[in-house]
Amino acid sequence: MAKILVTGGAGYIGSHTCIELLAADHEVIVLDNLCNSSEEALLRVQDIATKVMTFVQGDIRDSAALDRLFQTYAIDAVIHFAGLKAVGESQKFPQLYFDNNIAGSLSLFNAMEKAGVFKLVFSSSATVYDEANVSPLNETMPTGTPSNNYGYTKLMVEQILQKLQQADERWSIALLRYFNPVGAHKSSRIGEDPQGIPNNLMPYLTQVAVGRREKLSIFGNDYDTADGTGVRDYIHVVDLANAHLCALNNRLNQTGCRVWNIGTGKGSSVLELKNTFEQVNGIEIPFEFSPRREGDVATSFADNTRALSELGWKPQYSLKDMLADSWNWQKQNPTGFN
Ligand code: NAD
Ligand code: UDP
Repeated sequence: MAKILVTGGAGYIGSHTCIELLAADHEVIVLDNLCNSSEEALLRVQDIATKVMTFVQGDIRDSAALDRLFQTYAIDAVIHFAGLKAVGESQKFPQLYFDNNIAGSLSLFNAMEKAGVFKLVFSSSATVYDEANVSPLNETMPTGTPSNNYGYTKLMVEQILQKLQQADERWSIALLRYFNPVGAHKSSRIGEDPQGIPNNLMPYLTQVAVGRREKLSIFGNDYDTADGTGVRDYIHVVDLANAHLCALNNRLNQTGCRVWNIGTGKGSSVLELKNTFEQVNGIEIPFEFSPRREGDVATSFADNTRALSELGWKPQYSLKDMLADSWNWQKQNPTGFN
């Protein structure tokens, strides 16, 4: 059992990870400014886990608040989810993204160093890979120049962490490159609750299914893929949450900075996802084909063999599970946590 600080713990992936941490008897301290989440998610996490956590409402850019937090709780390790993640918004407001995601992360790492805490799991993304790489993407392939400012912040923080670790070997860092997290906890009490119009496919699709949006726009049907639509590696958020526990255990016993892909290793097209959703949930999804979205690649899926062999992690959920769980969450919470 360890004391874990979870930044961004009220968010989509963070809340699911808190459940798994509590189930594994860790003590959880969540730091979140609730800019893209609600405290209700944390109350539900505690309900589901039948355990309590500590919630500190605050910002990772607030160094004084971080120092107080590390002085109050004898933290063993940090899982760092806090960040902004909307690609379009990052193009409009680059400074906001650099400040929140890069400066915010630096402020956290400074506070950790001051407090003598050197174990860290960081939320990175498959978007850091060079677009020229051919899937399956593995961790030895080169990173590129991300097509948007959000992706750039992930790459920058990865590189900062690699350099921190090179300079001071007390750091033990896991860089988890997520593919496409979807799905929700089996209880349907927590799930993805984006503000405004969803950017991502799955929440958009479930909002069409629940009647909040008229139809799904499929961005491009002329890609070089089996059916012409984009292929991605969808991973159940509970499997992703469990990958954090495995990475944490790995880091509690080792030093270094190591990258792991967290995906299922299987690609699914947008059409396949829509059709399977209709079949699994018995709901028809109105849709139209529209032009490609700028910055999208045709195909992206993981080679996950490193995570399987080094972390002892294995995804448990199928695409059908992901689609059923996403829908159950949306159906039972049509307006999210509101
Ligand atoms: P989310 O928005 O649901 O969760 C992020 C949480 O961080 C929110 O609760 C938000 O209020 C909090 N937060 C943001 N800035 C903060 C700050 N300055 N101080 C304190 N709290 C702050 O997003 P998510 O989908 O759970 O993603 C978690 C992490 O994983 C993010 O870093 C994201 O970039 C990364 N990631 C997500 C995906 C995805 O598709 N969901 C894919 C790859 C990587
Ligand atoms: N997509 C789509 N319609 C939408 C949102 C996404 O057709 O409303 C497609 C997108 O072009 C990509 C896939 O769905 O091929 C996954 O997109 P998402 O934004 O969920 O994740 P990404 O892989 O781009 O981070």
